[in-house]
Amino acid sequence: MSLIVENITLLKQQIPPSVKLVAVSKTKPVGDIIEAYSIGQRCFGENRVQELLKKKDNLPKDIKWHLIGHLQSNKVNLVVPFIKMIQSVDSFKLLKIINSEAAKIKREIKCLLQIHIATEESKFGFSINELDQMLGSPDFKSMDYVRICGVMGMATLTNDKDQIRNEFRYLRECFYILKRKYFSGNPDFKEISMGMSGDFDTAIKEGSTLIRIGSLIFGDRK
Ligand SMILES: *Cc1c(COP(=O)(O)O)cnc(C)c1O
Repeated sequence: MSLIVENITLLKQQIPPSVKLVAVSKTKPVGDIIEAYSIGQRCFGENRVQELLKKKDNLPKDIKWHLIGHLQSNKVNLVVPFIKMIQSVDSFKLLKIINSEAAKIKREIKCLLQIHIATEESKFGFSINELDQMLGSPDFKSMDYVRICGVMGMATLTNDKDQIRNEFRYLRECFYILKRKYFSGNPDFKEISMGMSGDFDTAIKEGSTLIRIGSLIFGDRK
């Protein structure tokens, strides 16, 4: 059995069936993705558009691609035709562009709202106040080609488990506040994407519905 197959098998034993696994294949070759695919993995995550485009043409068409990295406005049109979900929506401006590009080809795009939960400044994402402004605005309500499916967040890179747990708790709280206020009765708004290789167990305990795992499946990145 290959190491990748073994890693996924082990991982699956540690996560409840209700939690979806996105295999983060960034920097890894197409062959590694095929190995994961061969035992039934279908959801993969990439953070760079050019890399994603290059890989996807050499891979099965039924792979569900999730974009998990910051998306530049001028690259939206490249992913909108095929992407399964854009998890990294981090500004109103970006959401508007996704909506207008999606409208051109009449394809609804599933999106997650990335919320800034870490203490590091470098991590992208909305604040809860920015989301309040956006979700309450008439401009937002008139967007027909984006389907908001929940929230995404990345915890601070730290060994402090308490801090990580608190950041995940905060993300879950944001999810429920937004659900109550803007998405009540909307079954699409259901995902809390949190948890990576180093913190997925904590994330699942705190209510994650979707974990994004790279190195634990494919090995360390250079
Ligand atoms: C790289 C990346 C991951 C996966 O990280 P690992 O620690 O390798 O599991 C998850 N989410 C995002 C947004 C990433 O960029």
